[in-house]
Amino acid sequence: MRPIFASIVLLAATLASLTAQKRPVVFLITDAEGVAGVCRQDQTETKNPELQRLLTGEVNAAVRGFKLGGADVVVWDGHSNSSTLSTTTVEGAPLVMGGLGPKMLLDRGYSAVAFLGQHARAGRERAVMAHSYSSLGIQRLTMNGKEVGEIETRSALAGAFNIPVIFLSGDQAAADDLLAIVKDAEVAVVKEGIGYYACISMPAAGAQALIEQKAAAAVKKIASIRPYRIEGPVEITTEYSTRSTPSPENALPEGTDRTGPRTLRIRGANFMEAWTRWSSR
Ligand SMILES: [Zn+2]
Repeated sequence: MRPIFASIVLLAATLASLTAQKRPVVFLITDAEGVAGVCRQDQTETKNPELQRLLTGEVNAAVRGFKLGGADVVVWDGHSNSSTLSTTTVEGAPLVMGGLGPKMLLDRGYSAVAFLGQHARAGRERAVMAHSYSSLGIQRLTMNGKEVGEIETRSALAGAFNIPVIFLSGDQAAADDLLAIVKDAEVAVVKEGIGYYACISMPAAGAQALIEQKAAAAVKKIASIRPYRIEGPVEITTEYSTRSTPSPENALPEGTDRTGPRTLRIRGANFMEAWTRWSSR
């Protein structure tokens, strides 16, 4: 190869890799209870064909939107035991399957986190199947005295890695939960909760169009949305349900004490320490 030609090839390759590096990657966390048309417990079973169809439709709409906005996407099948989505029907993005550790892969340097099909935290009114991690196991979850669920804790986890949360789709209550901590996030409200098992939902096609549009808009905000960071020591209190009452015989992990017959308090010097202890409790 002539030297001049070789340097042109090298320059082109360098430019290509620079542009490739520049394309942001969104880590999309999926759930079931915030999907349009999902309003009953039986619809949240991972093999429920209607859930699979509705959720996959929304996932693919979000992927199309993020890509349209200029980002790539990695989708995590985050509902239940991670067995709802399939690579035969999820299009345009790799699928993360299986349970994740406390860092949830966020140490891989993703540019943004997004929630799809998300529900509000336990105890919220007018919120479809609102719960915090486990509807059967956990009655109430607080972080530094504030009631929280997946939205607040995972946003704080993203914040610990300096990653902003840019998008959520779900019911109005879930959208309000995110906007309370990340006011500039793009939200696609696909249904309104009337009660725990009652809602007014958009038709699937309309919900998917809205999700695609908001996801595209969210990519433009990656640089401007501030990561949600919790500074200083963190205390996470878990009030278990009666059927999940922790046995007083069980040894407590480091940083943990019992503050009631059904309540454990976990403390850490910072969010990551408290979160890692909570995740391995
Ligand atoms: Zn959930």
